[in-house]
Amino acid sequence: MAYAYDDQNIFAKILRGEIPNKTVLETEHSLAFLDIYPQAPIHILVIPKGAYVCFDHFAQEASDAEIIDYTRAVGEVCKMQGVEEGGWRLIANAGEAAIQDVPHLHVHILAGRPLGPMLPKV
Ligand code: 5GP
Repeated sequence: MAYAYDDQNIFAKILRGEIPNKTVLETEHSLAFLDIYPQAPIHILVIPKGAYVCFDHFAQEASDAEIIDYTRAVGEVCKMQGVEEGGWRLIANAGEAAIQDVPHLHVHILAGRPLGPMLPKV
């Protein structure tokens, strides 16, 4: 499958410095920043700097260096925030069914309150 990346998405604009963000961590290939509408006391987004639409796109096409950097960036944010203490959740929405709002790969790191079940029961 070919992934079509829209470089006008809001996270591409953040990466180009066109709109501000509250940066938590910046590495060679990744950026972590506060979610503008936090859903938990800790709600941090981690994005790769490369133009990847979603996690599967990244996993299939990113370089080993990007993947290592991104994974380590998530780990470093978790360490900085001490989330292992009370537990935390990592979410990566992709595409329509998951209601991905911003078409640039991002994972949500959520912590600081009880997070409930993974999905509502149907
Ligand atoms: P998604 O639904 O795509 O998984 O999550 C997108 C996330 O991006 C949402 O949690 C939303 O609050 C966040 N968001 C949207 N626009 C901005 C923005 O301009 N700045 C920041 N920091 N977060 C944003």
